[in-house]
Amino acid sequence: MRIVLLGAPGAGKGTQAKKLIEKYGLPQISTGDLLRAAVAAGTPLGKEAKSYMDKGELVPDSVVLGMVEERLGQDDCKKGYILDGFPRNTLQAEALDKMLASLNMPLTAALSVDVPFEDLMKRLTGRRTCKACGQMYNIYFKAPAKEGVCDKCSGELFQRDDDKEATIKKRLEVYTAQTEPLIGYYRNKGILKTVSGTGSIDEIFKKVTEALGLK
Ligand code: AMP
Repeated sequence: MRIVLLGAPGAGKGTQAKKLIEKYGLPQISTGDLLRAAVAAGTPLGKEAKSYMDKGELVPDSVVLGMVEERLGQDDCKKGYILDGFPRNTLQAEALDKMLASLNMPLTAALSVDVPFEDLMKRLTGRRTCKACGQMYNIYFKAPAKEGVCDKCSGELFQRDDDKEATIKKRLEVYTAQTEPLIGYYRNKGILKTVSGTGSIDEIFKKVTEALGLK
């Protein structure tokens, strides 16, 4: 299965991707995670990317496309993968189609996770992530037992730099202007599936697996 996950920032794409990985063993390719790793490692690419990320803007297509192409070429992607946070605009979607056509491995599905706009802000400002194991929390909906500490591994929880309010507003604007049109792009290709992203994580996961025809 080669799947693209679509949805606004805060729609829960990353959470659902992690559950798909746990259950089906597919690698998750999150361009946001790859970029954050480059920022943390202080590479030239990371330094360039950070200035865009902190403003809530998209990192230039050339940077992201190079990263994705390299990642898709790795062995573990042969059995399929879940693209999370990529593509983010029509140019990236077209470039992805070309890459996959040359490998004769087209996408299986594009899954859009829909969440009402009003809910997204709370989800994003409340989001906290464990530094050690990556487990996600939300101080409004899924708080850890002890503030600032991971339930799973006792690691320290942090708030992403780009989850601050001004940046979030910009990220949502960028989503509406540049990424939302991809819903129509994949609908035209006949591979769009849509699920509602409200309810519990497990309820949404059930809808996700049904929409993808997974058991
Ligand atoms: P995410 O974790 O997917 O919300 O991504 C966080 C930030 O990384 C975004 O706000 C962008 O600045 C950048 N980013 C992630 N994926 C992409 C992409 N496919 N194209 C351009 N920028 C991206």
